[in-house]
Amino acid sequence: MRIGFGIDYHQLAEGRELWLGGVRIPSEKGAVGHSDADVLIHAICDALLGALALGDIGQHFPNTDEAYKGIDSKILLSKTFEMVKASGWRVVNIDSTVTLEAPKIMKYALAMRETMAGILGVGVGDISIKATTTEKMGFVGRGEGLVAYATALLEKV
Ligand SMILES: [Zn+2]
Repeated sequence: MRIGFGIDYHQLAEGRELWLGGVRIPSEKGAVGHSDADVLIHAICDALLGALALGDIGQHFPNTDEAYKGIDSKILLSKTFEMVKASGWRVVNIDSTVTLEAPKIMKYALAMRETMAGILGVGVGDISIKATTTEKMGFVGRGEGLVAYATALLEKV
């Protein structure tokens, strides 16, 4: 077994789409980034890479590379999962938490779990998504940004 941890931050701004867990969430503000800025998928990619001790998402998919400009992060998750498989591992389960002030995202959690489970070759019950605010404190509380945390457990095939 191998365990990995990932964390990701993005700024929030008006005029951007908000993508989380591969699903577009209706929101006044969206995440700013080189890709679609899906903070949850990015944290999960880092957790998977962490479990493999293969560095981080920025090394594999540089935000200076035009190839990744505006890219759907589901493609990055799929490419990361290819590395998991190529290394001889499979995903056991993933747990995650998204920290943001607004909007409320839990009604989209099942859609996000289904989307990511399909990419990672696991069941919906193997992907957990939780959400919290920071009780109005700090940059998350002011709606300036959002954070996602994820852990991943891998098992040798
Ligand atoms: Zn990111």
